Amino acid sequence: MTIATSTKRQINWVNTLFFAAVHLGALLALVPAFFSWKAVGVAVFLYWFTGGLGITLGFHRLITHRSFQTPKWLEYFLAFCGTLAVQGGPIEWVGTHRIHHLHSDKADDPHDSNKGFWWSHMGWLFFFRDDQADLPRFTKDIADDPVYQFLEKYFIPLQFALGFFLLWLGGWSFVVWGIFFRIVFVWHCTWLVNSATHKFGYQSHESQDNSTNCWWVALLVFGEGWHNNHHAYQYSARHGLQWWEFDMTWMTIQLLQAIGLAKNVKLANTK
Ligand SMILES: [Zn+2]
Ligand SMILES: [Zn+2]
Repeated sequence: MTIATSTKRQINWVNTLFFAAVHLGALLALVPAFFSWKAVGVAVFLYWFTGGLGITLGFHRLITHRSFQTPKWLEYFLAFCGTLAVQGGPIEWVGTHRIHHLHSDKADDPHDSNKGFWWSHMGWLFFFRDDQADLPRFTKDIADDPVYQFLEKYFIPLQFALGFFLLWLGGWSFVVWGIFFRIVFVWHCTWLVNSATHKFGYQSHESQDNSTNCWWVALLVFGEGWHNNHHAYQYSARHGLQWWEFDMTWMTIQLLQAIGLAKNVKLANTK
Protein backbone atom coordinates (compact mmCIF):
# COMPACT_ATOMS: atom_id res chain seq x y z
CA MET A 1 0.00 0.00 0.00
CA THR A 2 1.37 3.40 -0.88
CA ILE A 3 0.79 6.11 1.61
CA ALA A 4 -0.29 9.55 0.48
CA THR A 5 1.99 11.75 2.54
CA SER A 6 0.21 14.87 1.34
CA THR A 7 -2.94 13.84 3.26
CA LYS A 8 -3.67 16.23 6.10
CA ARG A 9 -2.56 14.70 9.38
CA GLN A 10 -5.22 13.84 11.93
CA ILE A 11 -4.68 14.93 15.53
CA ASN A 12 -4.39 12.01 17.94
CA TRP A 13 -6.48 13.44 20.77
CA VAL A 14 -5.83 10.54 23.14
CA ASN A 15 -2.08 11.13 22.92
CA THR A 16 -2.44 14.91 23.05
CA LEU A 17 -4.67 14.96 26.14
CA PHE A 18 -2.49 12.34 27.83
CA PHE A 19 0.68 14.45 27.30
CA ALA A 20 -1.17 17.57 28.52
CA ALA A 21 -2.45 15.81 31.66
CA VAL A 22 0.94 14.40 32.63
CA HIS A 23 2.64 17.78 32.05
CA LEU A 24 0.00 19.45 34.25
CA GLY A 25 0.65 16.81 36.91
CA ALA A 26 4.38 17.60 36.74
CA LEU A 27 3.59 21.26 37.56
CA LEU A 28 2.50 20.07 41.01
CA ALA A 29 6.21 19.69 41.73
CA LEU A 30 6.22 23.51 42.02
CA VAL A 31 3.88 23.29 45.04
CA PRO A 32 6.05 23.47 48.18
CA ALA A 33 3.73 21.05 50.05
CA PHE A 34 4.80 18.27 47.69
CA PHE A 35 8.51 18.92 48.05
CA SER A 36 10.86 16.70 49.99
CA TRP A 37 14.45 15.69 49.31
CA LYS A 38 13.40 12.05 49.58
CA ALA A 39 10.86 12.57 46.79
CA VAL A 40 13.55 14.22 44.63
CA GLY A 41 15.79 11.23 45.36
CA VAL A 42 13.04 8.85 44.18
CA ALA A 43 12.71 10.89 40.96
CA VAL A 44 16.49 10.82 40.34
CA PHE A 45 16.62 7.07 40.94
CA LEU A 46 13.71 6.43 38.58
CA TYR A 47 15.24 8.79 35.97
CA TRP A 48 18.26 6.48 35.91
CA PHE A 49 16.22 3.28 36.24
CA THR A 50 13.72 4.06 33.46
CA GLY A 51 15.71 6.48 31.27
CA GLY A 52 19.26 5.18 31.72
CA LEU A 53 18.80 1.44 32.18
CA GLY A 54 15.44 1.18 30.44
CA ILE A 55 15.41 3.44 27.39
CA THR A 56 19.11 4.00 26.66
CA LEU A 57 20.65 0.66 27.59
CA GLY A 58 17.60 -1.57 27.09
CA PHE A 59 15.24 -0.25 24.39
CA HIS A 60 17.94 1.49 22.35
CA ARG A 61 21.37 -0.13 22.45
CA LEU A 62 20.29 -3.69 23.32
CA ILE A 63 16.90 -4.30 21.70
CA THR A 64 16.74 -1.86 18.77
CA HIS A 65 20.34 -2.19 17.61
CA ARG A 66 21.46 -5.48 19.22
CA SER A 67 24.85 -3.89 19.85
CA PHE A 68 25.52 -6.51 22.57
CA GLN A 69 23.85 -9.59 24.00
CA THR A 70 22.68 -10.38 27.51
CA PRO A 71 21.00 -13.38 29.13
CA LYS A 72 17.28 -13.32 28.27
CA TRP A 73 16.23 -12.58 31.87
CA LEU A 74 18.38 -9.42 31.86
CA GLU A 75 17.02 -8.34 28.46
CA TYR A 76 13.47 -8.69 29.81
CA PHE A 77 14.40 -6.79 32.97
CA LEU A 78 15.83 -3.89 30.93
CA ALA A 79 12.75 -3.94 28.68
CA PHE A 80 10.61 -3.72 31.85
CA CYS A 81 12.64 -0.71 33.05
CA GLY A 82 12.12 0.99 29.66
CA THR A 83 8.40 0.27 29.73
CA LEU A 84 8.19 2.24 32.99
CA ALA A 85 9.34 5.36 31.09
CA VAL A 86 5.85 5.51 29.48
CA GLN A 87 7.17 6.03 25.95
CA GLY A 88 4.78 3.43 24.55
CA GLY A 89 5.46 -0.29 24.65
CA PRO A 90 8.84 -1.72 23.58
CA ILE A 91 7.59 -3.09 20.25
CA GLU A 92 6.29 0.27 19.00
CA TRP A 93 9.34 2.12 20.39
CA VAL A 94 11.84 -0.21 18.74
CA GLY A 95 9.97 -0.25 15.42
CA THR A 96 9.68 3.54 15.36
CA HIS A 97 13.37 3.98 16.07
CA ARG A 98 14.39 1.50 13.36
CA ILE A 99 12.19 3.42 10.87
CA HIS A 100 13.93 6.64 12.00
CA HIS A 101 17.35 5.19 11.16
CA LEU A 102 16.21 3.81 7.79
CA HIS A 103 14.73 7.14 6.65
CA SER A 104 16.67 9.56 8.85
CA ASP A 105 15.65 13.17 8.09
CA LYS A 106 13.74 12.11 4.98
CA ALA A 107 9.98 12.35 4.41
CA ASP A 108 9.32 8.88 5.88
CA ASP A 109 11.22 9.58 9.11
CA PRO A 110 8.53 9.74 11.87
CA HIS A 111 10.35 12.73 13.42
CA ASP A 112 12.11 14.24 10.39
CA SER A 113 14.12 17.14 11.84
CA ASN A 114 13.79 19.12 8.60
CA LYS A 115 10.21 19.83 9.67
CA GLY A 116 11.52 21.91 12.55
CA PHE A 117 12.80 21.58 16.10
CA TRP A 118 9.39 21.26 17.77
CA TRP A 119 8.11 18.75 15.25
CA SER A 120 11.08 16.44 15.88
CA HIS A 121 10.96 17.08 19.63
CA MET A 122 7.30 16.38 20.37
CA GLY A 123 5.01 17.68 17.61
CA TRP A 124 5.05 14.36 15.75
CA LEU A 125 3.57 12.61 18.79
CA PHE A 126 0.32 14.60 18.59
CA PHE A 127 -0.72 13.13 15.25
CA PHE A 128 -1.68 9.77 13.80
CA ARG A 129 1.20 8.39 11.80
CA ASP A 130 1.31 7.20 8.21
CA ASP A 131 3.84 4.50 9.02
CA GLN A 132 1.93 2.76 11.84
CA ALA A 133 1.01 -0.13 9.55
CA ASP A 134 4.70 -0.58 8.73
CA LEU A 135 5.78 -1.32 12.31
CA PRO A 136 5.37 -5.16 12.16
CA ARG A 137 7.91 -5.30 9.33
CA PHE A 138 10.52 -3.71 11.62
CA THR A 139 9.85 -5.72 14.77
CA LYS A 140 9.79 -9.34 13.62
CA ASP A 141 12.41 -10.33 16.20
CA ILE A 142 10.32 -9.28 19.22
CA ALA A 143 6.69 -8.96 18.11
CA ASP A 144 5.78 -12.60 18.83
CA ASP A 145 7.51 -12.74 22.22
CA PRO A 146 4.84 -13.00 24.96
CA VAL A 147 6.92 -10.93 27.41
CA TYR A 148 7.20 -8.07 24.92
CA GLN A 149 3.51 -8.43 24.08
CA PHE A 150 2.66 -8.16 27.79
CA LEU A 151 4.81 -5.03 28.26
CA GLU A 152 3.34 -3.51 25.08
CA LYS A 153 -0.25 -4.06 26.21
CA TYR A 154 0.08 -3.12 29.86
CA PHE A 155 2.56 -0.23 29.98
CA ILE A 156 -0.09 2.11 31.40
CA PRO A 157 -1.38 -0.29 34.14
CA LEU A 158 2.26 -0.99 35.08
CA GLN A 159 2.75 2.75 35.63
CA PHE A 160 -0.36 2.88 37.80
CA ALA A 161 1.03 -0.04 39.83
CA LEU A 162 4.30 1.88 40.31
CA GLY A 163 2.28 4.97 41.28
CA PHE A 164 0.28 3.09 43.93
CA PHE A 165 3.51 1.57 45.27
CA LEU A 166 5.06 5.06 45.60
CA LEU A 167 1.88 6.38 47.22
CA TRP A 168 2.10 3.61 49.80
CA LEU A 169 5.84 4.16 50.24
CA GLY A 170 5.96 7.93 50.69
CA GLY A 171 2.61 9.59 50.01
CA TRP A 172 1.66 12.09 47.30
CA SER A 173 5.06 13.81 47.18
CA PHE A 174 6.57 10.54 45.92
CA VAL A 175 3.83 10.32 43.27
CA VAL A 176 4.25 13.93 42.11
CA TRP A 177 8.05 13.66 41.84
CA GLY A 178 8.52 9.95 41.13
CA ILE A 179 5.73 9.62 38.56
CA PHE A 180 4.66 12.95 37.02
CA PHE A 181 7.81 15.07 37.22
CA ARG A 182 10.11 12.14 36.45
CA ILE A 183 8.06 10.99 33.42
CA VAL A 184 8.04 14.50 31.93
CA PHE A 185 11.75 15.00 32.60
CA VAL A 186 12.71 11.67 31.00
CA TRP A 187 10.36 12.33 28.06
CA HIS A 188 12.04 15.63 27.23
CA CYS A 189 15.52 14.12 27.69
CA THR A 190 14.68 11.35 25.21
CA TRP A 191 12.99 13.80 22.82
CA LEU A 192 16.11 15.99 22.82
CA VAL A 193 17.88 13.12 21.05
CA ASN A 194 15.41 13.52 18.17
CA SER A 195 15.46 17.33 18.21
CA ALA A 196 18.67 18.83 19.67
CA THR A 197 21.03 16.14 18.37
CA HIS A 198 19.61 16.60 14.90
CA LYS A 199 20.32 20.34 15.14
CA PHE A 200 22.97 21.51 17.65
CA GLY A 201 26.58 20.39 18.00
CA TYR A 202 29.13 18.97 15.57
CA GLN A 203 29.37 16.20 13.01
CA SER A 204 32.37 13.88 13.19
CA HIS A 205 31.13 11.55 10.47
CA GLU A 206 29.29 11.84 7.18
CA SER A 207 26.01 10.17 8.15
CA GLN A 208 23.83 11.51 5.27
CA ASP A 209 21.47 13.21 7.75
CA ASN A 210 21.38 16.11 10.26
CA SER A 211 22.52 14.05 13.28
CA THR A 212 25.01 15.79 15.59
CA ASN A 213 27.16 15.16 18.65
CA CYS A 214 26.06 17.41 21.52
CA TRP A 215 27.73 17.21 24.94
CA TRP A 216 24.85 18.47 27.09
CA VAL A 217 22.38 16.01 25.58
CA ALA A 218 24.94 13.25 26.15
CA LEU A 219 25.10 14.19 29.85
CA LEU A 220 21.30 14.25 30.20
CA VAL A 221 20.65 11.00 28.37
CA PHE A 222 23.46 8.75 29.58
CA GLY A 223 25.62 9.04 26.45
CA GLU A 224 22.95 9.17 23.73
CA GLY A 225 23.94 12.72 22.76
CA TRP A 226 26.86 11.40 20.65
CA HIS A 227 24.16 10.89 18.10
CA ASN A 228 26.14 11.60 14.93
CA ASN A 229 28.59 8.87 15.95
CA HIS A 230 25.58 6.64 16.51
CA HIS A 231 24.00 7.35 13.12
CA ALA A 232 27.36 6.63 11.47
CA TYR A 233 27.92 3.39 13.46
CA GLN A 234 24.45 2.21 14.49
CA TYR A 235 25.65 -1.23 15.61
CA SER A 236 28.26 0.15 18.01
CA ALA A 237 27.59 -0.37 21.73
CA ARG A 238 29.85 2.59 22.35
CA HIS A 239 28.53 5.99 21.21
CA GLY A 240 31.14 8.33 22.69
CA LEU A 241 34.06 7.55 20.39
CA GLN A 242 36.58 10.17 21.56
CA TRP A 243 38.12 9.99 25.03
CA TRP A 244 36.28 13.19 26.01
CA GLU A 245 32.90 11.99 24.70
CA PHE A 246 31.64 10.75 28.07
CA ASP A 247 29.27 7.83 27.61
CA MET A 248 27.86 6.45 30.83
CA THR A 249 25.89 3.70 29.10
CA TRP A 250 29.09 2.43 27.47
CA MET A 251 30.62 2.23 30.97
CA THR A 252 27.58 0.24 32.12
CA ILE A 253 28.01 -2.17 29.18
CA GLN A 254 31.70 -2.57 30.04
CA LEU A 255 30.71 -3.36 33.63
CA LEU A 256 28.16 -5.94 32.45
CA GLN A 257 30.84 -7.43 30.20
CA ALA A 258 33.33 -7.64 33.08
CA ILE A 259 30.89 -9.62 35.21
CA GLY A 260 29.90 -11.88 32.32
CA LEU A 261 26.42 -10.43 31.65
CA ALA A 262 27.19 -8.84 28.27
CA LYS A 263 28.83 -10.56 25.32
CA ASN A 264 29.30 -10.09 21.57
CA VAL A 265 29.77 -6.37 22.24
CA LYS A 266 30.00 -4.63 18.85
CA LEU A 267 32.30 -1.66 18.36
CA ALA A 268 32.59 0.99 15.66
CA ASN A 269 35.35 0.30 13.17
CA THR A 270 36.44 3.91 12.70
CA LYS A 271 39.76 3.09 11.04
ZN1 LIG B 1 19.55 4.31 17.28
ZN1 LIG C 1 18.57 10.23 15.10
